[in-house]
Amino acid sequence: MIKKPRTKPLKLLKLNAILQRLVHNHLKHGELQIEFARYSAGYRGEVALDYYLHDLDENSYFILHDLRLPRDREKKYYFQIDCLILHSSFGVLLEVKNLSGDLYFDHLFDQMKRTKNGVDETFPDPVSQVQQQKIYLESWLKKNQLPKIPLYSLVVLTNPKSFITLSPHYGKKAAQIIRTKSLANKVQQISTYHQEILTKKDLSKITTKLFKQHERHSPDLLKTYNINHTDIITGVFCPGCNHIPMRRERSTWICSKCNIKSKDAHIRALQDFAVIFNEPVKNKTLRRFLHIDSTTCMKNLLRSMNLTPSGPTNSATYHLPIPE
Ligand SMILES: [Zn+2]
Repeated sequence: MIKKPRTKPLKLLKLNAILQRLVHNHLKHGELQIEFARYSAGYRGEVALDYYLHDLDENSYFILHDLRLPRDREKKYYFQIDCLILHSSFGVLLEVKNLSGDLYFDHLFDQMKRTKNGVDETFPDPVSQVQQQKIYLESWLKKNQLPKIPLYSLVVLTNPKSFITLSPHYGKKAAQIIRTKSLANKVQQISTYHQEILTKKDLSKITTKLFKQHERHSPDLLKTYNINHTDIITGVFCPGCNHIPMRRERSTWICSKCNIKSKDAHIRALQDFAVIFNEPVKNKTLRRFLHIDSTTCMKNLLRSMNLTPSGPTNSATYHLPIPE
């Protein structure tokens, strides 16, 4: 049973929205595009995994995607799990990698080298990464006074075209690297080693706590990439030809390029704002972003999306929801 469905990583949504709205010829454009391609590939890999997770009996397994949990009470540090499979007798953490090219797992320096089109790139060894996450999860369960269960960690390589090689002394860790198609078999094999420990109630207690403590990661990419707020193009995109900005006339958005009319083109713009800036926002700031003159018109648009302001009237702010 899928207990926590996959959502698009916020970083991917942010990169996409920034790329769409970044002023032309911006210095960081290329860098953002490379990062976007890398994240998209990662996400595609996780989506590809779903097909194989489907092979697990849905009455026996709980599947939780993309968890990000605090490591300490002060919530200073977090750990992330691509996918957690829970069973009444054990749990499996998955680290999903969708990399093409030649992959070389190097035990000596705890790294993985990817060679593609003659270019070498190094990554931290994903097996060590997921083993570390397993340790964090064990301690998280303990801290939250939840039942202890045997935990396993696996690295799932979702790109069937990648060519895998291991360093000669890679050792037992190799058993933790699998291809997507072997996932269900591997998990079922693990299930044969264990007796039931958790009741349905225990399992539901664990998943509820995981949900409650999960926090979606929202990195400030404008800061990371040193992009000024003024480098972000404001206005409403035309849903027909992607021209920006549309103008608002008599409660309708009109494109001056293709003449398309739209009643709800502002929704995407508000989503872009929410994703890029991710902060409480005043009516005035949104009017500037959408190119709307009237305060009342802005208020009505937000109300039509069930958004109401909070705080004192002269400094009231809106919390725009982040799309799932
Ligand atoms: Zn248009």
